[in-house]
Amino acid sequence: SFPDDAPDMDALVSNADTAMYRAKELGKNRCVRFDASMNQAMVRRQAIEQALRAELEGGHGLALHYQPLFSARDNALVGAEALLRWTHAELGNVSPLEAISVAEDCGLIVPLGYWVLRTACRDASRWQGRHAHPLRVAVNISARQLGDPQFLEQVMDILREEKLPADLLEIELTETVLMENMEAGAYTLHRLSQLGIHLAIDDFGTGYSSLAYLRQLPMRRLKIDRSFVRDLPAQEHSRKIVTAIVALAHGLGLEVTAEGVETLEQAEYLVEQGCDVLQGYAFARPMPVQQFVELQASH
Ligand code: C2E
Ligand code: CA
Ligand code: CA
Repeated sequence: SFPDDAPDMDALVSNADTAMYRAKELGKNRCVRFDASMNQAMVRRQAIEQALRAELEGGHGLALHYQPLFSARDNALVGAEALLRWTHAELGNVSPLEAISVAEDCGLIVPLGYWVLRTACRDASRWQGRHAHPLRVAVNISARQLGDPQFLEQVMDILREEKLPADLLEIELTETVLMENMEAGAYTLHRLSQLGIHLAIDDFGTGYSSLAYLRQLPMRRLKIDRSFVRDLPAQEHSRKIVTAIVALAHGLGLEVTAEGVETLEQAEYLVEQGCDVLQGYAFARPMPVQQFVELQASH
């Protein structure tokens, strides 16, 4: 409304546009009134988009950190999850959730996801042979990446070029990513699985928790979301949910990783329940690749 929301016609229309985008984001078919904080959010997203574009064209601000994964059975190091880190001169540290969300909206997710996968496979390929066990690398894949028609071919090219055996790559997909790609994604996921790549459902229990994709898709692992781990072992509900998820997963022949394990009591409880892999600050935080290589020597 004029003049409260803008001093002139152009700004008024542009702000109305911002409110319209917000309405679409919130699920369309609704009324949203403009307020100034929306513009700030928009300005920040545009700044992130520009900076990310520059980064992908040859910057040095992107990195992957690796969070070690340990076998619950014998505490052996079994691999690491690759997590995006981004430090930018003006924007500071941009969280991976924010960077990925902007990249998804503006289409940069495909080149960004490619960079992540390439870097993770290259690093993981170098780890092999130095450690007692083969170490698997887990990579997070977002919705539009899985939906990208080139995705399958890119994964195959990367594995071949980086000389990483397919079964040392694990792809983590959230329930939302799976739901958004149920049909087109199913073919890709079956192919990836046939190649030997492991598929994991991330943040299990926080999304749709649909049993349909457990039946239809060749998943190998469920990752129990840290919101269920947080209140262990005190909270009865969390205890029961964890027990039920482990029973469900094992009944279907899937392995279970517990994420966000911060205390030894939590770890103990999760081992007792039969979790296969533990991940969390109680064992190790995500770390630069060099530090992860050093950690391999001591495990
Ligand atoms: P996620 O896949 O669930 O990753 C685990 C997150 O939990 C990471 O946050 C990790 O640092 C954090 N974490 C690990 N152990 C603990 C713990 O004991 N306690 C607590 N409180 N947190 C713990 P991070 O690195 O900030 O990543 C956040 C999310 O961003 C990830 O959640 C993932 O969804 C997304 N993400 C990160 N890197 C990528 C990427 O390369 N591609 C895509 N598509 N998404 C990514
Ligand atoms: Ca993950
Ligand atoms: Ca997770």
